[in-house]
Amino acid sequence: MQNTNLKCNATNCAFNQRMECSAGAINIRGAEAVTTDGTTCSSYVDRNANSFTNSVNSVRTNTHNISCEACKCKYNKKKNCTAKGVSIGANKASCDTFIRK
Ligand code: SF4
Ligand code: SF4
Repeated sequence: MQNTNLKCNATNCAFNQRMECSAGAINIRGAEAVTTDGTTCSSYVDRNANSFTNSVNSVRTNTHNISCEACKCKYNKKKNCTAKGVSIGANKASCDTFIRK
């Protein structure tokens, strides 16, 4: 199991394993976002509405595996996330760590 600095509260996502993300890499949308509400993890896959098979693996997504379009966030450097840790919210899988520049 890898250590991870990305916590995800969106437990309905098929990639969510005990509040950690097993997708390996994720994309955050929100090019126009000025608050957390404008951001969302576009890698989210609904566990219930999808035939996606939940695969339990030891891959963990970290902040350096994030490609982020929310360029108005102070942690965004050329679509890379420079935050020490990121928290994805239960509501809409938005990025709770977003802080406006
Ligand atoms: S919502 Fe995004 S960060 Fe959370 S488990 Fe799913 S893919 Fe990973
Ligand atoms: S903290 Fe900022 S740069 Fe990092 S994923 Fe969230 S919105 Fe994107």
